[in-house]
Amino acid sequence: MTQVLQRTKAVRPASARATYARVVRTERVCPSFVRVVLIGADDTLDRTFVPMGYDQWLRLFLAAPGHELPVLPDGGPEGWYSRWTGIDPEIRGSVRNYTVRAARPVPGGGWEIDIDFVVHTDPATGEVAGVAAAWALAAKPGDVVGVLDQGRFYATEPVRGKSVVVVDESGLPAAEGIARSLPDDERAVFIVEVAHPEDRRPLPSFASTRVRWAVREPGAQPGDAALSLLREERLEPDDYVYAVGEKALALGARRWAQGAGLPKSRVDFCSYWRR
Ligand SMILES: Cc1cc2nc3c(=O)[nH]c(=O)nc-3n(C[C@H](O)[C@H](O)[C@H](O)COP(=O)(O)OP(=O)(O)OC[C@H]3O[C@@H](n4cnc5c(N)ncnc54)[C@H](O)[C@@H]3O)c2cc1C
Repeated sequence: MTQVLQRTKAVRPASARATYARVVRTERVCPSFVRVVLIGADDTLDRTFVPMGYDQWLRLFLAAPGHELPVLPDGGPEGWYSRWTGIDPEIRGSVRNYTVRAARPVPGGGWEIDIDFVVHTDPATGEVAGVAAAWALAAKPGDVVGVLDQGRFYATEPVRGKSVVVVDESGLPAAEGIARSLPDDERAVFIVEVAHPEDRRPLPSFASTRVRWAVREPGAQPGDAALSLLREERLEPDDYVYAVGEKALALGARRWAQGAGLPKSRVDFCSYWRR
């Protein structure tokens, strides 16, 4: 599972429960992303899910090969991992982390949740690599996954200067959620690296927002192009840097921000995946 490097200030959802969700529809929104839209498979998600915006994220449980359903750990986010690893590995399936790109109320109750999956491939073979990416690509209406809301992580304390959000494509759904949730007088810079020019999409923005896109050259280290743009930004000690994506991007942004004089408390970073 992806290594999480720093996650001390998360806002945890009070009522979240591991539960099943079903696929409503899927869409290949651009070369690198397939969007899967989920709703609760019964009323548990409707009763317990509270949209928080920003970079709210979920544990996504996928069925073991040959099984229709993943086996879920009972209960909420606290201690879920030891309960999950206590389940027979033959039947429990896999778990991965994904962002709530958007959550829309459904007429009559409940939520429709968008998850944007990066369709990543093995550089050696060009084949889709990863159980979650392959699941998303093959998903069809009615398919069932498990979800467990984990809450949000972005700037849980007020930001006095500007926010600088630095991501690769795995963090684009988080950047979108953050851009949509920020108060409109907050100064923010979004630096987003993607693999294809067509992966770029309009981010919700207002007068005090700047969005800078970098398109990665084939074969380049993921995150290098975003880090180059970050190094062009003038950082002040009151600013806040949030960096998620490939491990080298998350660590490189943290190093740069702290070298520019930001205290640790104003730098949040997370390794979303490792090359
Ligand atoms: C809090 C959080 C939120 C996240 N939100 C999202 C999200 O909304 N959308 C999203 O797509 N990802 C998101 N991620 C990243 C996602 O969890 C990982 O990319 C995950 O490894 C994908 O699982 P997989 O089964 O497809 O691949 P895995 O089985 O985990 O990995 C298989 C191979 O693919 C490589 N790989 C994994 N991810 C990528 C990638 N993005 N690009 C290129 N190669 C990769 C690995 O290095 C490995 O070699 C998030 C991660 C965290 C921690």
